[in-house]
Formats: sequence, C-alpha cells, structure tokens
Amino acid sequence: MQGGERYNSINDYLKSAFGRKTVKLSLDAGFTCPNRDGSKGYGGCAFCSEGGSGELAAHTPSISDSITEQIDRLSEKWPDAAYIAYFQSFTNTYAPVQRLREVYYAALSDPRISGIAIGTRPDCLPPDVLALLEEINKEHFLWVELGLQSIHPDTQSAMNLCYTTADYDKASAALSALGIKFVTHLILGLPGETEDMMIESLNYVCNSGIRPFGLKLHLMNIVKTSPLYEAMPDYIPFASMDEYVDFVVTCLELIPPDITIHRLTGDVPRKILVSPEWSYRKRSILNAINRELSLRGTHQGAKSK
Ligand code: SF4
Repeated sequence: MQGGERYNSINDYLKSAFGRKTVKLSLDAGFTCPNRDGSKGYGGCAFCSEGGSGELAAHTPSISDSITEQIDRLSEKWPDAAYIAYFQSFTNTYAPVQRLREVYYAALSDPRISGIAIGTRPDCLPPDVLALLEEINKEHFLWVELGLQSIHPDTQSAMNLCYTTADYDKASAALSALGIKFVTHLILGLPGETEDMMIESLNYVCNSGIRPFGLKLHLMNIVKTSPLYEAMPDYIPFASMDEYVDFVVTCLELIPPDITIHRLTGDVPRKILVSPEWSYRKRSILNAINRELSLRGTHQGAKSK
C-alpha cells in the first residue's frame, strides 16, 4: 500500500512496476462466448450485456487501430502513461489457439504496449491455450482475469453461468502452476445472495482456493440489454450507496494485503445502466470507500486470516 492508501490498488502496483502511470486499454477482439453460441448455453450470463460486458472497449478490425483509438481517447488525460492491452469483451481465450496467438501478439508487438491482460471464463483454458499463455508469460507482462462471481451453485445456476466452482479451482490451479498471475471477479449484490453468502465467496477465493494476484469486486449492475433486466426489471442490488460502501469496507478488511485490488465498483455506460442509479458515480463511490476506511481507522487485510 502506497501514498497513505488503505488498500493495495492495482494502480499503485502498475506505477511501481512500470515507473509511471499505467492505463488499461479495453479491447474487443471479436470473440464470442460458449455461453452464447450454444456450446455451453444460450443467452449468456443473466447479468451480461449485449456487448459481452465490454461496452467501453474499442472494436475495430485491427488490434493496432483499436489500440490507437483508445490511446487517442486517453492520452490527453495521461500523456506519459504506459499501456496494458486488456482483452475485455466476451471470452478472450475462446477461439482456435492460432487465432489467439495472432491477436495477443498483435498487441504485444506494438511498441506502445507494455503488457496484456486477458479476460475469460474458468472453463475456457484448454492445454494448448495454457501453453500459449505460458510462452507469453515468460517474455511479457501478463495477467489472466477469471470470472467466478459467486461460489454458490444456486446462484451460478440462476445466473446461467454454465461453469462451476470446480472449473474455477482447476483454472486457478493450472495458471498458478505455470506462474501466471490471475485476477478473480466476484459480483456483490447478485439476486438471492445475502451478505454472508458474498463473504463466503470472498473468503473462499482468498483463503480456501489458490490465492489470486488480484481481485475485482463488481457492484451488481442491472443493464438494459441483459436477461436479468427482462426477468427482474425492478431488482435493486443495494438499498443505497452508503450501504454498499459499508459492505465493501467490510470486504476489504477480509482481503489479505498482498492481493491487488482492481475494482470496487461497477463500470457500465450510463446509457444502459438501470440500477443502482447511483452506480455511474464511480469517483464518488471510491471517495466514500476511502472516507469510510479512514473513519473506521481500518485497511485492507485488517481482519484477514
Ligand atoms: S459474462 Fe462473460 S461468460 Fe458470461 S455471457 Fe457475458 S461474456 Fe459470456
């Protein structure tokens, strides 16, 4: 934890790794998802948007053009930044390995790119893909992001995830055995989940399974283009921002201090956000989390095992 921060943010980690502000460029490489094309399911996870949870990603026919588009958008704010190419939309290990090789190396061969991050599902890491990731990891900066969302089978089934906690265990063990950093995604506020259930998922990831390099805690967002909005249009994940902030601080206290924190809010464009209506105020939410940590005199890992 640097600069008086009370949690171990990925921004600080990257600044120290690359010696300057480091920004992730969200890319859509044109993949699909086994939960959409019928090989595992149809319709996608209940909370997923039409854009495969990547509405902010650049999607042009060429990876280089997508990188340029994102850098043009961000360079005014951060003129001297280093850049990580983040393959975000849909399932970014779900294609023949030769296609994956082309896509990943198109980014890695760009001199403006310092490393890559790859978002995927835990059931989409076959041996040939793991071998490619191992090869890349030996020469380049890499992490893999694994959607887990919840360890609870009833939630996994209700949300139509079409993967299990056992898939996550296998994926995290395989990545860890190869020395590849991975980041686990959990969603706070899934329908039917109590705070105790969310904490069980968090504790499982931090203490029972193989400990990840990083964690993304997503605030459950209901978005207009998701099956969940069709099924539960009035669902509100947390009654207020204060309630959410209070719970996130409780979670941070339980997360071991060596785990990097990649996200503590939701991140969807306002035009498709239905609820919580305050979710688009990311800066306010993060400020409130910092304020609450300070008020409680606590920090990440204060109550970790
Ligand atoms: S959340 Fe990920 S795994 Fe689920 S449908 Fe969307 S792209 Fe596929």
